[in-house]
Amino acid sequence: MNYVRIAADECKGCRLCVQNCPNNCLGIGSEINQMGYQAAVFKNPNCTACGICFYVCPEPGAVTVYKNEERINA
Ligand code: SF4
Ligand code: SF4
Repeated sequence: MNYVRIAADECKGCRLCVQNCPNNCLGIGSEINQMGYQAAVFKNPNCTACGICFYVCPEPGAVTVYKNEERINA
């Protein structure tokens, strides 16, 4: 299974990942993180592990992509 893990406290809620996912896999959650932002959340199983969300994210460490359970970005 492919999926993306968002480190909620690293996310500033900029939505770049949400807007650029070709499969509409990401959204903005309702919870406020420790920095006062509403963090992105992974919301559906159609992820192809393309990595676009990782590449567009300005926050190092916020997005980790897993392809068939294997981590594909540092
Ligand atoms: S890896 Fe690709 S398909 Fe999966 S959530 Fe990120 S942008 Fe969307
Ligand atoms: S691109 Fe990064 S900082 Fe922006 S909402 Fe997505 S995970 Fe958060």
